[in-house]
Amino acid sequence: MQITEIYKSIQGESTFSGLPCVFVRLTACNLRCSWCDTEYSFYGGRKMTQEEVFNKVEELSPGGGLVELTGGEPMLQEREAVPLMQRLLDAGYDLLLETSGERPLENVPKGVVKIVDVKCPGSGEGDSFRMENLETLHRNDEVKFVISGRADYEFARDFVARHGLNAKVNAVLFSPAFRKEAEGARTASHCLLDPQQLAEWILEDNVPARLSLQMHKFVWDPAAKSV
Ligand code: SF4
Repeated sequence: MQITEIYKSIQGESTFSGLPCVFVRLTACNLRCSWCDTEYSFYGGRKMTQEEVFNKVEELSPGGGLVELTGGEPMLQEREAVPLMQRLLDAGYDLLLETSGERPLENVPKGVVKIVDVKCPGSGEGDSFRMENLETLHRNDEVKFVISGRADYEFARDFVARHGLNAKVNAVLFSPAFRKEAEGARTASHCLLDPQQLAEWILEDNVPARLSLQMHKFVWDPAAKSV
């Protein structure tokens, strides 16, 4: 499979935020979100066998721990990614899959916690969510909306209500989009939507969502890669 990077850091964008985690970033994405912060994963990378990826994960986190498959879009390499997921589960790892929500998710092994994006209009990929994926969601899964303004917020709020999302999954995450050119100071001023404003909207409307900040961008320089 084509891999951009494998590294250990702190999980930053889910209910697992703050936990040590090995990230396996698969190369390529078929979407082009306006605020994407991993454009470096669109091309390049290197070919690695399932064995090589597994060995690297074991080296970074021997005997178990948290692992996340991310990208890019990992499900573009479903044929190789699914057996890798099963192998990691069998070896006792807790496994997260971060996915854009555009690819079919029926074949993701049951023990994997899916963190599924629903792209809002401000991303430029607003119609990309594959509605059949709602049927694949389990109680342990999480659904994430990256929100860059009021129109995105209303889209997310209405989508959650229309599909009863909070009853289907462990968490509905509302995350303010980050400026992709952000660097230097580790502050909320880099967010495209002020987190305070988003929090107030959530409270006003009683939305059953969790405000989620990209923790790694407040721990390291927001321009840092491999964190
Ligand atoms: S789906 Fe993810 S990797 Fe692909 S363009 Fe959007 S943010 Fe970037």
